[in-house]
Amino acid sequence: MELQFLGGASEVGSLGLVVRDQGRTLLFDYGLTPSDPPTYPRPFPSNVDAALISHSHLDHTGMSPLLSRLGKARIAGTAVTSEITDLLARDNLKIARLERYLPPYTHEDILALEGRFLPIERRGTFRHHGIEVNFTPAGHIPGASMFLYRGAEDLLFTGDILRNSTHLVPPAEMLGCDVMVMESTYAGKEHPDRAQTEKQFRAKVTETVERGGQAIIPAFAVGRAQEVLLALEATGLDVWLDGMARKVNSIYLRHPEYLANGKRFRRAVEAVSTVDSPERRRHAVKNAQVVVTTGGMLDGGPVLSYIGDRYKDPKSSILLTGFQVDGSNGRQLMDQGTLTIDGVTIRPECEVLKFDFSAHAGHSDLVQMVRDSHAKKVVLMHGDHREALADAIRGEVEVLLPENGHRFEV
Ligand SMILES: [Zn+2]
Repeated sequence: MELQFLGGASEVGSLGLVVRDQGRTLLFDYGLTPSDPPTYPRPFPSNVDAALISHSHLDHTGMSPLLSRLGKARIAGTAVTSEITDLLARDNLKIARLERYLPPYTHEDILALEGRFLPIERRGTFRHHGIEVNFTPAGHIPGASMFLYRGAEDLLFTGDILRNSTHLVPPAEMLGCDVMVMESTYAGKEHPDRAQTEKQFRAKVTETVERGGQAIIPAFAVGRAQEVLLALEATGLDVWLDGMARKVNSIYLRHPEYLANGKRFRRAVEAVSTVDSPERRRHAVKNAQVVVTTGGMLDGGPVLSYIGDRYKDPKSSILLTGFQVDGSNGRQLMDQGTLTIDGVTIRPECEVLKFDFSAHAGHSDLVQMVRDSHAKKVVLMHGDHREALADAIRGEVEVLLPENGHRFEV
C-alpha cells in the first residue's frame, strides 16, 4: 500500500492523503488553510476512485468542491459533513470576493458536489468497485468520522479525534487496524481539566455581566460556538448568538443522532436570542449581556461590530475559546494586546482571557488510542510537533513521520 500526503502531513491545515492499493486510488480529506489569502494542498491525481471527507472543518473539507471535477469518483462522508461543507464552500466564495483573491473553485463546482456527495450513516459502510470503508464516530464535532479502509492491510484514517465526550458530541469509537494514520495536533501537550475550565469560564462571564459589561465570546461557527452555548446554559444569562453558527445549528438540529444529547441541544438553542437582521444586531451590540459570535480569530465577521462598540469599556470582556493561529488578530490580541481592524490598530481596554475548549485529543489520549487500535504501524499527520508523540509510542509500534508530497509504503 502506498501513501502520499498532498498537504497537512507536518502542519495543521490543507489536509489531503492519497492511498494507492491493489490498483485503487483513494483520497482522504481535501482541505485548505484559512490564512489570508488561503493556502491549498497539492492537486489530487485524476484517477481517484473514492474520496472520503472526515468532517466539516475547513482544513479537511475546504477544497472538496474541486472533487466534483473528478470523472467517476464516488465522494462520501456523513450527511452533516456534506451539508456543512456546502455551507462553508458558499461562504468561502463570498470571502474570496470580499478579500479580492481568486477562489479555487466555482459556484458550479459547489452545486456539482452537492449532487454527488453520498451520505453514509454514523457506523455505516461505503462500498464502491471492491473498495470497502467502514465509518466510525471520531468525537471532535458532530458528523466527524474515522475511516477504516479494508485493503491489503486494514488502514484507519482518524481525521480529527476526541476520546472524551463533550456537551456536544459523544466520544470517538476506536476500531482495530494494522496501520493507523493519526492526527497529532496536541502531540506533547495536555489539556487542562475541562470541568475546571468551564467553571472558570462561567464565573468570568457572570462576573463581566454583574459589573455591567458585555461578555464577547468569539467562537468558530462549526462545533465551538455550539459547545460554548451548552457550557453557558447553566448561567441563565441573556445570551445572543450571531454569525454563521446559526445556520450550523439548524443543520445539527436536523441530525440529532450525531449529538451527545439532541433534546438538550435543542433546549440550549431555543434559549438563546439570535441575530438575524441589522436591527437585531444593533440591539444586541448595545444591550446583550453575553454574545457568542464569529469570527473565532477576530479576523472578520460580526464579532468586530461588538468589539468596535465596547473596546474602550474595561467592564466588558473578550473571552477567546479557540486556537489563535499566528498572524491572526486573536493571536495579536493575546501577544500584544492590540487588534487591527481595517488597517487601524486599537488597544482594547476590555479584559482579555483565553479558555481551552479544544475538541482534539490531548497527548496521553492519543497514546492510549494507539494502544486501543492494536496497530503495528502508526503514521502521524496533522501536527506541528509530531516528534513528541512519536517518542512516546516508538517502543510499542513502528512510527512514520512523512512529509508532504513524499510517496511511501506501509
Ligand atoms: Zn477538525
